[in-house]
Amino acid sequence: MKALVIGSGIIGLSTAHVLQEHGLTVKVISRDLPQSTTSWRAAAVWFPYKAYPLEKVMEWSRISYHYYHNYLDRPDTGVSMVSLRILESIDAAKEWLEAVPSEVKKISGTTLPKGYQEAIEFEVPLVDTSYFLPYLLTTFLIKGGEFEMKTLRSIDDLDYSEHDWVINCAGLGSRQLVNDEKMFPIRGQIVKVKAQPNLGWIAAEHGPLALSYVIPRKNEVILGGTAEPGVEHCDIDPEETKRILERCKKLAPGLNPAIIKAEVGLRPGRDEVRLEREGDKIIHNYGHGGSGFTVCWGCAEEVAAIMGLGGEQI
Ligand SMILES: Cc1cc2nc3c(=O)[nH]c(=O)nc-3n(C[C@H](O)[C@H](O)[C@H](O)COP(=O)(O)OP(=O)(O)OC[C@H]3O[C@@H](n4cnc5c(N)ncnc54)[C@H](O)[C@@H]3O)c2cc1C
Repeated sequence: MKALVIGSGIIGLSTAHVLQEHGLTVKVISRDLPQSTTSWRAAAVWFPYKAYPLEKVMEWSRISYHYYHNYLDRPDTGVSMVSLRILESIDAAKEWLEAVPSEVKKISGTTLPKGYQEAIEFEVPLVDTSYFLPYLLTTFLIKGGEFEMKTLRSIDDLDYSEHDWVINCAGLGSRQLVNDEKMFPIRGQIVKVKAQPNLGWIAAEHGPLALSYVIPRKNEVILGGTAEPGVEHCDIDPEETKRILERCKKLAPGLNPAIIKAEVGLRPGRDEVRLEREGDKIIHNYGHGGSGFTVCWGCAEEVAAIMGLGGEQI
């Protein structure tokens, strides 16, 4: 069986991998190389954020959490498990904490930033996108996958006789590709600073420091962030860079703010992830908002289930 996957962000590449594992011959076509996608710019820590419906997102997240364990013992993947601290009470985080399979520790006391009384800490997968996306593309090619850079004006441009299945993983590009007016950008600016030792992984989604996160990686630290629904431009806002640094210094007082660069990505926002079959051959898998890395493996398994290759539809 032959499948064509549109998109080489995390959703396209994870889908392509899972379909290869099910024995399909897979081709990926994409307007961009992975390093020019939104996925490349993600902090890429496992955390359900701005993706719906919650019930399905929780299940996809649970599956993906376990799936990342397949990559842990290979350093070239850039996948690791880290202890993430979220400045939020257990009660406030109840809805999504159910998807966390690891032990959740409650933190309280004077070590927390001003304005926060409680925090939670648990083990999560962290993906260094600059390792993992090239790793996925390379291993996909080694396993016989084909990759073509091409921009589609419409999904109708494709020659369907060549493929048994077409999986649309074009993220925000689906707005034009399939005329989906429900798609909207959620602009996110981050700042990369120099790597430094002894820094923890910490985030505040609510409260006085929202939205902020400090995510150390091997070669840099990602500082975030913003989430601006409907804002489409990718220009760096220098004032926002300053505000991100200020918030992050309060979040992690030992932070050395030696800037490497700032970056912007447009999250593919939608009221609900679109993961469904259309007609005989097309399966849509897009609109994962701020959770692409958190849900991708669960979604890819669901694509396989829709094709009748095993597993269950959620
Ligand atoms: C600042 C920031 C921080 C984030 N942090 C996290 C996080 O910590 N955890 C998390 O889980 N998620 C995070 N996200 C969200 C995550 O990045 C997205 O959910 C994810 O990247 C979406 O992946 P995608 O493959 O659908 O889209 P993309 O990465 O945008 O890929 C879309 C692909 O489709 C292709 N394409 C589009 N249109 C066409 C066309 N017409 N023809 C051919 N190809 C086309 C593109 O070239 C690209 O290859 C963050 C996002 C941002 C911006």
